[in-house]
Amino acid sequence: MLRNGLFSLSLLLLLLPLPAVCGELSLASLEVVNGGTAVLRWTGTTPSFGVVRFNEQVVYLYPDRAGAIALLPIPLDLPAGHYPLQGAIVNERGETTPFSLDLAVTHLERPQERLTLPEEMVTPRDPAVLARISRERAQLDELFGQRGLRLWDDFIRPVSERISSVFGKRRILNGQPRAPHSGTDFRSPAGTPIHAMSTGRVVLNDDLFYTGRTVILDHGEGLFSLYAHLSSSQVKAGELIDSGGVVGKVGSSGRSTGPHLHLTVRLLGVRVDPVLLLEALQAQDS
Ligand SMILES: [Zn+2]
Repeated sequence: MLRNGLFSLSLLLLLLPLPAVCGELSLASLEVVNGGTAVLRWTGTTPSFGVVRFNEQVVYLYPDRAGAIALLPIPLDLPAGHYPLQGAIVNERGETTPFSLDLAVTHLERPQERLTLPEEMVTPRDPAVLARISRERAQLDELFGQRGLRLWDDFIRPVSERISSVFGKRRILNGQPRAPHSGTDFRSPAGTPIHAMSTGRVVLNDDLFYTGRTVILDHGEGLFSLYAHLSSSQVKAGELIDSGGVVGKVGSSGRSTGPHLHLTVRLLGVRVDPVLLLEALQAQDS
């Protein structure tokens, strides 16, 4: 009887799935708007590997102070709805714990803006200008396709001035609907120092047709920040800038109607709202 009892108990233990990894998986917010960033956090023993699949994209979890973290970009044009997050956490013994979470994406209606600009600025026709634009676009696509090691740590707002134009604003230029605003504009006076939104490596400091004097930082793991319309910048390609380090000064170079900072954030090839990203990560730290 005793033998049978022991046998049943050991069989039961063999059949019960043992927790392979110690920790807890959570989303900073179960609801995210289109254009936002979902923050998936693993709190517990740092896994040796973690991966999540969202919106046909595979995103890796990276070790951090509390365990591991993944940033998931929500495209501006992603329809509202429920999206499954499916993935797995693997511990140092190679044991895998699969997981599945539900992410609700809600629709945030962005304002609309009508602008009148000189026609040559809106629709360039000069072949030399068109060649320059396509060359610069290819250069940026190649840069944003890179996946370096994670450098980002603390996040800060690059300037303290108020927002003058939000990310995703629908724009009508000279009566024609155009691509939504690709970043956030801050109404900072000319000459204001611009601070790196997080630690990153300078991958570009150049004069571009649309964005004028432009600095791009690679924060690693597919996260980039682009600072546009600068009056000047002293940083050099390859240089590592700490979070809060100065990348340049506010100006009005390129296609701009007055001094301001335009900040674009790219995450895994997707443009996301810089302010929502900063809010999501600052909220995580507190
Ligand atoms: Zn802008």
